[in-house]
Amino acid sequence: MLHVRNLDISYGAVKTVRGVNLHVAEKEVVSIVGSNGAGKTTIINALSGLLPVGGGEVEFRGVKINGLSPDKIVELGLVQTPEGRLVFPEMTVYENLLIGGYSRTSRGHIQKNLEEMHRTFPVLDQRKDQLAGSLSGGEQQMLAIARSLMSMPKLLMLDEPSLGLAPLIVKEVFGIIDRIHDQGMSILLVEQNVYHALSISDRAYVIENGRVTMEGTGEELINNKEIEKAYLGI
Ligand code: ATP
Repeated sequence: MLHVRNLDISYGAVKTVRGVNLHVAEKEVVSIVGSNGAGKTTIINALSGLLPVGGGEVEFRGVKINGLSPDKIVELGLVQTPEGRLVFPEMTVYENLLIGGYSRTSRGHIQKNLEEMHRTFPVLDQRKDQLAGSLSGGEQQMLAIARSLMSMPKLLMLDEPSLGLAPLIVKEVFGIIDRIHDQGMSILLVEQNVYHALSISDRAYVIENGRVTMEGTGEELINNKEIEKAYLGI
């Protein structure tokens, strides 16, 4: 589905991402893991068209997407749930979901998609008239994911969905990601929570200083001695 070849991304004169190759096949969960500042968010923002691609190529479902605007990329089905959730705090849960449903491809299916979101995230149904800013962190994360799903993505990119959440809620959020995957969604997940991310991933890439330093199946990497030492604190 997604092929990233030789990706370079710079902030001004500073090259932050160098020669990254990665791919995601249909119905896979693929993670990009690595520590703070490794370049994970930079990669996902470039895939969404929010940052210019300095070099290399991004191909999504057979279409070269580098250079396309973020709204065009969403129309093609590549949709990002941003780090920090970024729900609209002064709007209700219902209004936040509606906004997610207004892409050209999804606007004719809003009612059906709302019903599906309420089935997948019952808490959002219970809280539909509540202001999004008054939800707990975990509920806001669920709303952010549901809002992305309202646009009917073909590939969902999740940036740090566990950031700032209590351990029990982190488990719940990863359970939801796993469930969305079981329903057939393809997912590219960016995470600092290496253990949880690898646990639910078919494959993963480890990023250090803007380069891919390791790749493998979730299981291979979770049992890798270097990963254990560097990221799992074992
Ligand atoms: P985190 O998990 O902390 O968000 P990350 O792996 O997602 O880490 P990025 O946010 O992609 O890392 O940042 C990669 C590098 O690029 C960092 O050194 C960061 O300081 C730098 N960087 C990020 N945004 C900008 C910007 N707008 N201008 C200049 N440098 C930036």
